[in-house]
Amino acid sequence: MRKNFLHEEPLVFEYPFSDKSAVDFNSPLGDSENIGDLKRTTPLGLSSLSEPEVVRHYTRLSRLNYSIDTGLYPLGSCTMKHNPRLNEKMVRLDGFMNIHPFQPEKTIQGAYKAINLLSDWLIDLTGLPVVAMSPAAGAHGELCGLMCIRAAHEHNGESKRKVVLVPESAHGTNPASAAICGYSVESIPCNNRGRVDLQALNNRLGDDVAAVMITNPNTCGLFETEALQISDAVHNAGAYFYMDGANFNAIVGRLTLKQLGVDAMHINLHKTFSTPHGGGGPGAGPTVLSDALAPFAPVPFLIKKNKKLCMVEHAGLKDSKLSIGRMKGFHGQFGVFIRALSYIMSLGGDGLSQVSGDAVLNANYLRVKLSKYITPFYDGICMHEVLFDGSFLDGSGIKTIDFAKAMIDSGFHPPTMYFPLVVEGALLFEPTETESKQSLDELIEVVTELAKMVRKEELTEYFDQSPINAPRLRLDETHAARNPILRWNPDPLLKAAE
Ligand SMILES: *Cc1c(COP(=O)(O)O)cnc(C)c1O
Repeated sequence: MRKNFLHEEPLVFEYPFSDKSAVDFNSPLGDSENIGDLKRTTPLGLSSLSEPEVVRHYTRLSRLNYSIDTGLYPLGSCTMKHNPRLNEKMVRLDGFMNIHPFQPEKTIQGAYKAINLLSDWLIDLTGLPVVAMSPAAGAHGELCGLMCIRAAHEHNGESKRKVVLVPESAHGTNPASAAICGYSVESIPCNNRGRVDLQALNNRLGDDVAAVMITNPNTCGLFETEALQISDAVHNAGAYFYMDGANFNAIVGRLTLKQLGVDAMHINLHKTFSTPHGGGGPGAGPTVLSDALAPFAPVPFLIKKNKKLCMVEHAGLKDSKLSIGRMKGFHGQFGVFIRALSYIMSLGGDGLSQVSGDAVLNANYLRVKLSKYITPFYDGICMHEVLFDGSFLDGSGIKTIDFAKAMIDSGFHPPTMYFPLVVEGALLFEPTETESKQSLDELIEVVTELAKMVRKEELTEYFDQSPINAPRLRLDETHAARNPILRWNPDPLLKAAE
């Protein structure tokens, strides 16, 4: 295999040590020798780079990343949309950036107002009465919703309910959050239309079930058309209806959760409302709660007192008697709040319903164009993402992963692979509304060309070896997952070169 040395870049610690520096420090005043035995005897080992070296180092590193700023990023379920620079400008305003939650409340009323305004928008867009702002991501919001559900059952003398039902196509965080919350998780099958099997759900519901978690639109990119029957069945069985809101971008501005009978739903601000994410964060997962769950909302939350906004910080007070307590330090992901608020306010209500409309339109454009070459998993219209299976590769010896990796050589980030797990060799494309027809056409051309190569059964080794234009070529992902190297050690090659 070829190795691409063009992209090699050592870690900043691996540059040879010298006395260069990008900053000039004054010599310390007074006696620097008064630390006795504690005086360092070995060099500090900090990197020593000049300003151009620092700039080049980080710019080169940034070129190793594929990003939404470099190209279309059709990663299904992750909603990688353009992050408007206006959001970044807003979050860098002095009054937002240079404040601290320990400041006296009267000095940060503006920040509180911004949080309150975002809450009002989220309440408006979902139709539920209360939103817990502090959860730090979607998964954290799931935990928040489930903890409120557990508290509500305990309050109502229903603590015998120990089971949470989750469809087999669910995102892995759903069963994980339920398990962390102490529930046992049982899986509900899909029907042949890719939706929750209502009959199977009805058969399993009973007085041991605490909640049902449904993603809508679901992870196959389909709207759960029986959502109302599901919520009725769940409520009749005395359980709560949790909706995973990661796909809210497909319905925002068109449908409220109140209409769907939802008790709790997290909103991934970093997905639906555009804030940069990936590589682990940051995100924010505000969680809306129905009247039944509202009294159990976590602290902190804002209330109005004498025309001023105050943060209720502790559970068990007058306004927080039944609260589940605190899930996170401080008040939530404030920087993400401001970006999301800026996005929401620049689009307004009408703009947001156009967001969901365009996201669905773009996904269906891909669906129609690509279905001639790769196999859609379901017939008919999809929502904001479109799911294909691996059957177009049958008999070619090429696997879904080979096909996806070959897209990297053509300059595109691959779609989500092998998820949802219920679909063999899945490829899940989510274009988002921020892509133009032209950029979608470029993606379609690349996928189409590769699919034609598969059909002609030519160049199978091309697929085996892809990508050849990525810094580390084809990664051994199984090896990386099983034997992760979590500790940095100096590169032996660099050491040898010294
Ligand atoms: C992204 C996602 C989650 C988890 O959200 P995080 O913000 O990554 O914690 C849960 N469910 C679905 C369907 C998702 O796409």
